[in-house]
Amino acid sequence: MKANAGGDRPISNEALQRFRETMRGAVLDPAHPAYDDARKVWNGTIDRRPALIAQCRSEDDVVAAVAFAKQHDLLLSVRGGGHGVAGYAVCDDGLVIDLSPMHEVEVDAHARMVRVPPGARWADVDRATQPYGLATPGGEVSVTGVAGLTLGGGMGYLRRKHGLSCDNLVSADVVTADGQKVHASEREHPDLFWALRGGGGNFGVVTSFVFRLHPVGPEVVTLTPFFCLEDARRVLLAWREFTESAPDEATTAFAVWAIPDDPELPEPLRGRPACILDGMYIGAPEAGEALFRPLREVATPLIDMSARTSYVDAQSALDPLFPDGGLYYWKSLFLDELSDAAIEQILSRAQDRPNPRILVILRHLGGALGRVADDATAYSNRGAEYMLSIDGAWSDPAETERNIAWVRDFWSAMRPFSNGGVYLNFPGFGENGRELWKASHGANFERLRTVKDRYDPGNLFRMNQNIRPGQADTGEANH
Ligand SMILES: Cc1cc2nc3c(=O)[nH]c(=O)nc-3n(C[C@H](O)[C@H](O)[C@H](O)COP(=O)(O)OP(=O)(O)OC[C@H]3O[C@@H](n4cnc5c(N)ncnc54)[C@H](O)[C@@H]3O)c2cc1C
Repeated sequence: MKANAGGDRPISNEALQRFRETMRGAVLDPAHPAYDDARKVWNGTIDRRPALIAQCRSEDDVVAAVAFAKQHDLLLSVRGGGHGVAGYAVCDDGLVIDLSPMHEVEVDAHARMVRVPPGARWADVDRATQPYGLATPGGEVSVTGVAGLTLGGGMGYLRRKHGLSCDNLVSADVVTADGQKVHASEREHPDLFWALRGGGGNFGVVTSFVFRLHPVGPEVVTLTPFFCLEDARRVLLAWREFTESAPDEATTAFAVWAIPDDPELPEPLRGRPACILDGMYIGAPEAGEALFRPLREVATPLIDMSARTSYVDAQSALDPLFPDGGLYYWKSLFLDELSDAAIEQILSRAQDRPNPRILVILRHLGGALGRVADDATAYSNRGAEYMLSIDGAWSDPAETERNIAWVRDFWSAMRPFSNGGVYLNFPGFGENGRELWKASHGANFERLRTVKDRYDPGNLFRMNQNIRPGQADTGEANH
């Protein structure tokens, strides 16, 4: 066979055969019956055809795949949970390192640590840790991959009490571009460890993450009232006031969306545009209920799904609302404050969405995540009190251009109200290139480039929000 992504070096059948024999996992080519499923990612706008997909089962498989890509000058992409919104997990013509077969989580309840392989989803982690009454901060949807989410920062319902996912990373095992197996922690390869916490997939393939665990649950209180859009201003103003003195146990968001099209809900409500308060309280349930009650009563809800429930159920409640294969385009901005003018802009745009499935969500940050110094990890923007995410979602491919244009237009209109930073896990299609990276990492950008120079001077890992090594970085394209 011949694959010509990075250069034009043909791959002989013998070389491919040798590669297959080295690997414990399967190596799929386009003729394999599992190929089409394996190249699919969550975002249905991404339709790429790699030359090969290496389904790694061990760290040694990853070493072999990295070596094969280098030897044959193949473009390389790395796939964890496949939920990267920009779709960098899969590439055209090159080699995909697919880590999904590696997902067995190991808990050390005594040491309050969990070891997570790179193909695990947050549901795997929550299910393994909750029997001990423990958790580590993940995302708000449990089918999202641990790897990509953590490498970009990782914001979930525990962020105000226990910080970001990357803040809870204790160590990581990494296969670097030169095929070395490296253990990164505060003491070993500290620069690499710093860069992994918010610098994305630029520095190597992480084959194992160790996270710190905290007592959480098993019961938590959720906040989920849906109000009429006409009440949005009143609800948003009340929520802003709430966030000004909210305790760290409460992590909340304001959103404009639609009521889920759920057969268990009354027919007239299904799919109706609405504004929503969303959140979780992880302290004593009685205290959480008392804290959230006034927010639930700020207007008359159309429906209120707030509950006392298990942490595991709360973590997976949103899963069905982001189906695999839908069409998505998500873009974000960090806001240091939420001014009246910003609120007016958000409300007028959000009420004028081209389709009700577009989610406009303002997350409250601060708390533990805000108390970490900006230069302590590659993830920056610690001072931002809010993050606006404009999550475009639609199902008709003919509507793609219109939806993307609308999200971009809204995003541009909000930039003057932001601190200029973008959350790299919600990056659009990464089209802003270096501008996006610099704005998002601020003073950390140059240090990230130094680490990139050291660990990946040839830019093998470039299917990501790419940091180009060396001084010649024009940063105009991402990969
Ligand atoms: C439905 C949904 C909900 C989400 N909710 C949240 C949320 O609540 N909070 C939040 O912070 N984010 C959230 N995100 C964004 C999420 O953090 C990113 O999409 C993230 O990239 C997903 O990780 P993944 O491993 O599933 O993705 P993948 O697509 O597999 O990976 C994304 C990128 O990460 C890198 N990568 C992945 N694995 C490795 C590895 N082992 N070693 C090196 N590099 C690697 C690669 O560059 C890859 O292209 C959500 C996304 C979706 C789709």
